[in-house]
Amino acid sequence: MGRRFNRVLARLRKDFQLSIICLMGFFGVLGISPYAVYRLSQGNYAVGIADAIIVLSTLFAMGYAWRTGDTRKPGLCLMVVASLCATLIVIKLGINGLFWIYPLILLNFFMVPPLLALLATVAVLVALVAYSRLIPGTVFESDYQMLSFIVTAMLSSTLSFIFAQRASYQRKQLQSWATRDALTGARNRRVMDQELKIAVANKRRHHISSAVLVIDMDHFKQVNDRFGHAVGDQVLVSFVELTNRCFRHEDRLFRFGGEEFLLLLCNTSEKGLRAAALQLQAQIAEHLKSPGGPVTVSMGGAVLYGNERWQDWLQRADHQLYEAKRAGRNRIHIDTYQVVEMA
Ligand code: GH3
Ligand code: MG
Ligand code: MG
Repeated sequence: MGRRFNRVLARLRKDFQLSIICLMGFFGVLGISPYAVYRLSQGNYAVGIADAIIVLSTLFAMGYAWRTGDTRKPGLCLMVVASLCATLIVIKLGINGLFWIYPLILLNFFMVPPLLALLATVAVLVALVAYSRLIPGTVFESDYQMLSFIVTAMLSSTLSFIFAQRASYQRKQLQSWATRDALTGARNRRVMDQELKIAVANKRRHHISSAVLVIDMDHFKQVNDRFGHAVGDQVLVSFVELTNRCFRHEDRLFRFGGEEFLLLLCNTSEKGLRAAALQLQAQIAEHLKSPGGPVTVSMGGAVLYGNERWQDWLQRADHQLYEAKRAGRNRIHIDTYQVVEMA
């Protein structure tokens, strides 16, 4: 029981969006259910049903997000439901309902991207103003009150928008710092381990084969020694740019060590791996240069087999790289793994 609770907490701590949807679920049940019951018991059916819809859809969204791990659709659904219901509540309750618009504004910024949240606020305000114009005296008691409400709601929304934009920019930057190599922009070692584990899981569950290519610059120390570290850096950057241009969107390039990279190719057989390595070698021969002339690389490749651990897979590719270096460099060596059938 305690362990399960800890697992729930760990998942909530890791997934911010899921935790917000669950927090909403919690508030939905505890905070809005009594209102729903009270209003239904008072015969105020429209508002009571709106409250009940908020509670139920929140619970549904929470369950969906928890089961599937997808928080985008539940977030959008909650935004639409909460905005519609809050509008209905204001129409029914008049000035007393207006206070709900402010938490709605904040909620929408937690649920959906900032621009969508801002548009949702504008849509709610337009609906309320239009309704009060059509049936005067229902929502606002005076034009002054309406104007004050619009100005304060838009101000809250705009400030939330700025805050959300800034938070989103900072989150992306942090994510980039945590997952990308600062010099070349290639993915770093930390993400590489995770992606290799995912590839192993995909192989076990869905029999999808992946392949890796370990790539090491040949005689790179000489480039640094002859032309300086800055030139060496530029060669590394150019290598990553040209590799990214050559491969599919789902393939991943990681900076494995100093001048060593790993290319992870999804859904790739030994034949595909060989073709990809040859294509990369041709691109490098054509485009990768230092002031001293062409820069070459050696490559070692391996396709993931059966129930292999990712460390063993990587080691096979690394061993092939070693063999390529030993054989004279500027070469591709691919592991031809043989599964030995037990008699
Ligand atoms: P080999 O063909 O055997 O791989 O020879 P090598 O000279 O490439 O290999 P070695 O391991 O002796 O040297 C690697 C060099 O890569 C040494 C190091 O200064 C350079 N290096 C590693 N990281 C960086 C970097 O970020 N920038 C630059 N400019 N050089 C780097
Ligand atoms: Mg090297
Ligand atoms: Mg090296």
